[in-house]
Amino acid sequence: MKPRIVLATTNPAKLRELEDLLSPWRIEVLAQSGFTRESVPETGLTFVENAILKARHAAANSGLPAVADDSGIEVDALQGRPGIYSARYAGPSASDTDNLQRLLVELADVPEGKRTARYRCALVYMRFPEDPAPVVCQASWEGRILTHSRGEGGFGYDPVFQVSGLEVTAAELPAETKNRLSHRGKALRLLVQELEISGTLPRRR
Ligand code: IMP
Repeated sequence: MKPRIVLATTNPAKLRELEDLLSPWRIEVLAQSGFTRESVPETGLTFVENAILKARHAAANSGLPAVADDSGIEVDALQGRPGIYSARYAGPSASDTDNLQRLLVELADVPEGKRTARYRCALVYMRFPEDPAPVVCQASWEGRILTHSRGEGGFGYDPVFQVSGLEVTAAELPAETKNRLSHRGKALRLLVQELEISGTLPRRR
């Protein structure tokens, strides 16, 4: 029987990205929504703390090992904001568009050269809810915040995130390219490397 892992995210776009990224391994990837509709309050002050809270919640509700992601965008001109509050920047039930618009308003007077930013991602794997030794991997993706949206792909802040070294936004990249370059893609490759070394994951297909 293939090992089963639950993905602790309710964000459909993130779920799709993580499923794509995990497809080379012979594992059954299940969504947390198949076990519970409740999400856990993100009370941590760091991406790692919030990812641990999410993984513990998913493992407790599914009885399966869990992988959780916590991610966000850090803008230098805003002293790192919105950071861990990226999903709720414009309020508790804000949409991606509301959050992106708030970011553009906050940066309205910031000149082009000072709009540097990065996505950050923490990924956590927990074997069971009380796992005292979660596997934790983190990665980032450098870029700059544009003044207008460009592109239809991705989600969240992607239409205004110009990828460092490329003349395109994250929303203009094909999904495979985003997965290769992104904070989440890099963190996931680190995580599966750790899990392969420890024998938790079988070899690739
Ligand atoms: P979380 O679901 O609590 O981890 O919040 C993540 C938030 O960070 C998302 O709702 C987006 O606003 C932002 N974010 C994280 N990763 C990405 C990405 O790859 N593209 C665009 N926005 C992202």
